[in-house]
Amino acid sequence: MRIVIVGGGPAGLYLSLLLKRSGLGHSLQVVEQNAPDAAFGFGVVFSEDALEFLKKDDPAIFNAITPELERWSGIAIHHRGERVMLDGIGFTAVGRLHLIHLLQKQARDESVDVTFNRPVTDLSEFTDADLIVGADGVSSLVRRSDEAGFGTTLSYLTNRFAWFGTTKVFDTLSQTFLQTPAGPINAHHYRYSKTMSTFVVECSESTFFNSGFDRMSEDEAHAALERVFAQTLDGHPLIANRGSIWRQFPIIHNERWSVGNRVILGDALHTAHFSIGSGTRLAMEDAIALARAIAEHPTDVPAALAAYQAQRKPILDKLVNAANASAEWYENFGTHMALPPYDFAMSYLSRTGRMDIERIRKIAPEFTAAWEKHRTLPASP
Ligand SMILES: Cc1cc2nc3c(=O)[nH]c(=O)nc-3n(C[C@H](O)[C@H](O)[C@H](O)COP(=O)(O)OP(=O)(O)OC[C@H]3O[C@@H](n4cnc5c(N)ncnc54)[C@H](O)[C@@H]3O)c2cc1C
Repeated sequence: MRIVIVGGGPAGLYLSLLLKRSGLGHSLQVVEQNAPDAAFGFGVVFSEDALEFLKKDDPAIFNAITPELERWSGIAIHHRGERVMLDGIGFTAVGRLHLIHLLQKQARDESVDVTFNRPVTDLSEFTDADLIVGADGVSSLVRRSDEAGFGTTLSYLTNRFAWFGTTKVFDTLSQTFLQTPAGPINAHHYRYSKTMSTFVVECSESTFFNSGFDRMSEDEAHAALERVFAQTLDGHPLIANRGSIWRQFPIIHNERWSVGNRVILGDALHTAHFSIGSGTRLAMEDAIALARAIAEHPTDVPAALAAYQAQRKPILDKLVNAANASAEWYENFGTHMALPPYDFAMSYLSRTGRMDIERIRKIAPEFTAAWEKHRTLPASP
């Protein structure tokens, strides 16, 4: 089968590796618009067991990634100058570019044909392909080639966010919520290497306009955010790259995952709000599901694509629903900030609706005990 993969991010590169290793002799081509070194964003976080799927399915990648991971257990919630620790919730993190380089290296080692610096502008250049895979991210050309066919819906959250890095190395995954004269603002921050941390700033639409961020240049906004988070940054700078402009997070959903010989995966197919740190893992798991479906139906593209959606969708929906619930909590975080620190932390922890008090007690016993001492609300979360 001749398979063209548009996009050399985590989804596209990983799929190419899996297809190559399947031994089915597919003719593969990955086409990436950027240079190998160009990647937006800084570190990405995975929940503690998020990479377990790789351990079983792909020990080579698992063994390449795991020594590079930063690890910690517990989340720190900073609110009203207090630090509340949520124990028992482990995370790992790695630089996004580093992860992509690892995948690029594996692809090179497996002699996958990856062409960089080549933006695809028209799918008609691949009329000879049996299968065209859209691993081309949130603005996917493959998806946009037939939004009615895919049954696409696209909406945007109202909050604004900007993705920075910093040389301040945080001890754990942390969330800092501040009340400023212009309104509430939040930063998600965690280290992803021995020398760097991710620092994603998020605020409501009203804070965005009241702060004048809409009228500031990128440099002015960058400097203003360093001032707002001066205490958290502790004298360290914010570092910008091309993902550091203000954006609204897109919520993408597709009723149908394939149309004819075109199929989509990763961010092209669905988004998962960064507050649950799962987009990369979902993209790679999509790749596993698609590669498996192709292996089960090596000469029957429609059957493979139908199997891909049928097998993967129920699992994916659960996580995407949790991500959407988390996004909804963040859309209203200014209102939740009326709660005192322990109640606020409990509201944060139960935001996806997947954890009741008994589960929270089991996972985070120290926090639950402290919350029971400090809570002002009589009801359970
Ligand atoms: C602020 C923020 C924080 C995040 N934090 C986390 C986190 O902590 N953990 C986590 O797991 N995920 C996180 N994510 C999500 C994660 O970055 C994505 O879910 C993941 O990158 C999806 O992988 P992908 O391969 O589907 O898409 P992408 O990574 O977007 O890759 C798509 C690739 O396709 C290429 N491309 C696009 N169009 C074309 C074209 N026409 N021709 C050729 N090439 C093209 C692009 O250049 C890109 O390389 C975060 C996202 C944001 C915005």
